[in-house]
Amino acid sequence: PEIRRCMGSSIAYWAERLPDNIALDDAAGVFTYAELDRIVTDYARAFAGSGFKKGDRICWLGKNSALYFTLFAAASRAGAVIAPIGWRLAAPEVAYVLKDSQAALVICEPEFAETAKQAAAEAGTVKMILVAGEADGLQALDEWLVKTQPGDLPETNPAEGVLQLYTSGTTGNPKGVVLTNDNLFKMRPLVENKPEHAWIDISPDDSTLAVMPCAHIAGSGIGPIAFYNGATMMVIPEFHPDTVLDCVDKGLNQFFLVPTALQMLVNWPRAKDTDFSSVRSVTYGAAPIPLELLRQCIQTMPQALFCQQYGMTETTGTVCILPPEDHDPAGNERMRGIGIPLPGVELRIVNEQHNEVSPGTIGEIATRSGLNMLHYFNNPEKTAETVDSDGWLYTGDAAIMDEDGYFYIKDRVKDMIISGGENVYPAEVENAIFGHPQVNEVAVIGIPDEKWGEAVKAVVSPKPDAGEIDADSVISWARERIAGFKVPKSVDVISELPRNASGKILRRELRAPYWEGKERGVN
Ligand code: ATP
Ligand code: MG
Repeated sequence: PEIRRCMGSSIAYWAERLPDNIALDDAAGVFTYAELDRIVTDYARAFAGSGFKKGDRICWLGKNSALYFTLFAAASRAGAVIAPIGWRLAAPEVAYVLKDSQAALVICEPEFAETAKQAAAEAGTVKMILVAGEADGLQALDEWLVKTQPGDLPETNPAEGVLQLYTSGTTGNPKGVVLTNDNLFKMRPLVENKPEHAWIDISPDDSTLAVMPCAHIAGSGIGPIAFYNGATMMVIPEFHPDTVLDCVDKGLNQFFLVPTALQMLVNWPRAKDTDFSSVRSVTYGAAPIPLELLRQCIQTMPQALFCQQYGMTETTGTVCILPPEDHDPAGNERMRGIGIPLPGVELRIVNEQHNEVSPGTIGEIATRSGLNMLHYFNNPEKTAETVDSDGWLYTGDAAIMDEDGYFYIKDRVKDMIISGGENVYPAEVENAIFGHPQVNEVAVIGIPDEKWGEAVKAVVSPKPDAGEIDADSVISWARERIAGFKVPKSVDVISELPRNASGKILRRELRAPYWEGKERGVN
């Protein structure tokens, strides 16, 4: 088997060489590479045998599980495209994805069977729903597998789409990003650039963790990384500090968490008594991390190599990393940034005309590499807006590059606040407020203002048992740390900030009530 052809063939590759190595470990049991290869082949042949042809979309509606990753690999061998759907979505949102992806088959977990039925009825594209377990009126996946006449597998093509992920919908409607076998494989060479990138140094002796939701690249991307490298992947259905700590107790070597999840983990009472010595590397990203939190994480796991990842669904995840050697328990300037491009990735800062700007000048990040998506599914206009004819992909993130080639995210271009002619990047203000003793979470938005055009507002949620937050104390905390024009003019206190499934704060939801009927300059 050729390792780079697809994820299914890479499992076959390891099944030949290390048949007894554990590939998957979840609540349902443990699967060796040899077992996984057999099951993947069975599913792939069943897909082919029941008439699902090349390019058909197979949607998964469920949490993370060994089964999901099995189906993902099986789809790759059958030439089909797997499209995992966020299980937190309501039926109409699921219908949007089914319709947009023109899903032919939906495979769901029993707890989402009702949602799947409703959404499929609304979408009108779905030929069959299978349930992984039992649910009224639906065919069980394992029965279907047994009774389906196996079909012949096509030759899979590395350049074809295999994974369709919807963007987080932080700035608008989610977009269907099509990633190819080759895109997923390109994550692998990162591993071969040892020791500079020891962060993702996973060998067949190692175990990593699938914990972030599989509907996002941070969740699904772990599959290809583990399988292309013959490693073990522990899978947990959804994030909970206890479940992650259970995996650490079992000897987990490597994991990726988003900053909010890391915050919960290191503050979880049991973390104090946990032996983290098996953890060699901790990667984090997908959203900005407050420096204070990062320092706390390093202090909790001092032996681990920390590495920040920056990227997006459209770039098969990571294109830029802050490597372990730039992490320092005391904190340093570089820890406020996203680091340097990965080998093989071009990254530059451009102005509105898409021309490269000089170091120290703010602009938008553009990137070019073999990790860039094939396209947005069925959306040539949006694709052309995002990727130019030279292959540069425009990220929508505002940043600067310093003289040493290190990148620093300012914020989303769409979230930038223009107050009295000055540009204010919410992330910087949030970072300044984060250390306030009573503040648990903070989001900064621009609200309409007669005098300034936009005024900076902070929305905060309190730490449990920290007492009522005094708005003036938040403002004076900020004033000691950042320039006057960036300091919030007002502060709202709410119990919890709205976030999407990837843990990202939805600033547009916080902004909406203030902007009803008004046009924002930055949109
Ligand atoms: P949508 O495109 O639908 O608005 P989204 O951009 O949040 O949603 P994703 O592809 O999941 O969807 O997220 C990519 C974005 O996440 C990046 O463009 C960037 O803004 C942010 N991001 C990723 N990694 C980091 C990081 N290390 N630090 C700061 N921000 C990050
Ligand atoms: Mg985006």
